[in-house]
Amino acid sequence: MHDSQENELRLVDFYGRVARKLRISVLDKCNFRCNFCMPETPEWIPNEKILSFEEISRLVRIFAGFGVDRVRLSGGEPLIRKDIEKLISQLTEVEGIHRIGITTNGFFLEEKASNLKSAGLQSVTVSLHSLKPERFSFVTQVNSHAKVLKGIRRAKEVGFENVKINAVIIRGYNDDEILDFAGMAYHEGFNMRFIEYMPFDGKKQWGINKVVSGEEILSRIRDRYQIVPLEREPGSTAINYKFVNGGGEFGIITSITRPFCSDCDRIRLTADGKIVPCLFDQHEYDVAGLLRNGATDREIAEFLKRTVKLKAPGVESLLKASAELKHVRPMYRTGG
Ligand code: SAM
Ligand code: SF4
Repeated sequence: MHDSQENELRLVDFYGRVARKLRISVLDKCNFRCNFCMPETPEWIPNEKILSFEEISRLVRIFAGFGVDRVRLSGGEPLIRKDIEKLISQLTEVEGIHRIGITTNGFFLEEKASNLKSAGLQSVTVSLHSLKPERFSFVTQVNSHAKVLKGIRRAKEVGFENVKINAVIIRGYNDDEILDFAGMAYHEGFNMRFIEYMPFDGKKQWGINKVVSGEEILSRIRDRYQIVPLEREPGSTAINYKFVNGGGEFGIITSITRPFCSDCDRIRLTADGKIVPCLFDQHEYDVAGLLRNGATDREIAEFLKRTVKLKAPGVESLLKASAELKHVRPMYRTGG
């Protein structure tokens, strides 16, 4: 098949990048108020605008027709969406979808892990930004540390392999815990992911002086542990490492200091049905309107092709042009 024919069957942007992963925000609401994510007074999407499971599944089928094969559910907090297990099992039925994951704050994981596993969920990432209970409560504004830890352990118990833990590292807040997080991965076999702080906080308090670079994180870990880099999977947001003598792994998501825009393969769908091709670009495209006005699958597929084509080059090009990084939309709207 010629390249041009092959491209007809895939979602390709102007820079030749092919979409393979879809991140779906299943609702924008959340039971936490992480101060690097939520605004003081969030404006929630009205319930009637939130996509139904049938609408999400239909879109996923159309995406899968273009070779998108991985889906991650996020939010807001995906586990407060009623009957989320039903959506998961519906998505397992979609031909071509090989992997379904979730990113959660972990609060409801202890009670839901088993049902999520039975529904067909394959991977779980839990956000845990501090190992100090008081600090964690302060940042999330919910007394939740012990409950989240139980959720993480329960996920392992019910058989999720390679449970990942996300920590956004912010200078002056939790950068003194980098080695503690690394220790948790080393001793307990978790996959720890250190995320550089991005300018998508609802309170707009982000500043480059609060970003702890991936390089700094790595050098602190190297001072304590013997580590080796793992081969980077194309499209991956992280550079991953394993400990020479220990159980777990860790990854560093250098979205600010060393982004991987040139092979980015992700597309995002908001809870109210907007396609967001790039986190660092304000453009979003309303697919809900089409879904709810009788468009055929073919018309929606054409729309997806057109919108993905328009995906911005990404933060890498902003950095090259020394452009100021701006708040585009808060993270709870796109799911990270
Ligand atoms: N509520 C779920 C959770 O917290 O895992 C899913 C949604 S949350 C928006 C998805 C991911 O984005 C989380 O790992 C969260 O820590 C991360 N995040 C939120 N605000 C961020 C920011 N300003 N910079 C970097 N990551 C951020
Ligand atoms: Fe909620 Fe996740 Fe945002 Fe925290 S990071 S406020 S848990 S959506």
